[in-house]
Amino acid sequence: NVGKIFPGGGGGLWRPAPPDVRAVDGVSFEMTRGETLAVVGESGCGKSTLGRLLLRLIEPSSGRVLIEGTDITTLSGAEMRQMRRKVQMVFQDPYGSLSPRRTIAQLIAEPLQVFGLVKNRRQMRERVAELLTQVGLPPSVMDRNPRQFSGGQRQRIGIARALSVDPSFIVADEPVSALDVSIQAQIINLMQDLQQEKQFSFLFIAHDLAVVRHIAHRVAVMYLGQVMEIGTKRQIYEVPQHPYTQALLSAAPEARLDRPYRRIVLKGDVPSPTAVPEGCSFHTRCPLAQGICRVERPPLAQVAPGQMAACHFAAPNSLGVAAAGPSLD
Ligand code: SF4
Ligand code: MG
Repeated sequence: NVGKIFPGGGGGLWRPAPPDVRAVDGVSFEMTRGETLAVVGESGCGKSTLGRLLLRLIEPSSGRVLIEGTDITTLSGAEMRQMRRKVQMVFQDPYGSLSPRRTIAQLIAEPLQVFGLVKNRRQMRERVAELLTQVGLPPSVMDRNPRQFSGGQRQRIGIARALSVDPSFIVADEPVSALDVSIQAQIINLMQDLQQEKQFSFLFIAHDLAVVRHIAHRVAVMYLGQVMEIGTKRQIYEVPQHPYTQALLSAAPEARLDRPYRRIVLKGDVPSPTAVPEGCSFHTRCPLAQGICRVERPPLAQVAPGQMAACHFAAPNSLGVAAAGPSLD
């Protein structure tokens, strides 16, 4: 039930106080070890804020985050530093997140040094060489500067850095959105292989369902700070129950999904997170909205074992039977 409100800040004599931003609103889910959960939604839906809350890079306004049974929101600074060994982040812009003044070896080894995991320079260079090999780069690049590398190579370096401490949980925030489509597949394949080999829990944030089709075991779809639907990959791609999930599938490039989805064009833009609509927050754009949708917020409720949707009209679904979701005809 984790939430984050960014206060709008104080007003002035001539200026009203800006409204609060409800970035993440009562999100709940669990992940198991060795599982990849993709969090998907349009920009501004709160997915990056959620990723940062899960690593306590920002403090939640409400709710809890438990990692291996420990509520990290109550840890002291010293305790949190120990927890940081287990949790790592891969950022969207590999150039922005790598300091151009340092060498590849320094960048990758920094977490190793922070946690005292290498005793001397020789050990450090051995470990960096091993990590570079794991991400498909030659160890000979370690004394170079990140500026000399392409976006895809820099993302490999970012992944090596995250892997250096052997974390049990990694959050990757749109790790391939800044890359060319041809490079995206290489990086996703690399992350998928590493995830399978090392069995860390992996939260993969993306704005489109096509990107995570291969890598995700489960998918959570977010809209205006809430989870609208969550389920296994098969449930989300084959029997999506929420109209927003169906719309996102229909908007993804067909060639990058295995099959065509009926085209659903949503009305208007995503409302501002400073003015989340009453009732179902999706009602202003939903092609199926009814009267109740404007006044009553639908709970995220089970529609099939392992699948939940927040829609008044989501029907029970059993896989293998024709989709029983809301009809968009
Ligand atoms: Fe659409 Fe209503 Fe379902 Fe919301 S509750 S997704 S507005 S049908
Ligand atoms: Mg983002």
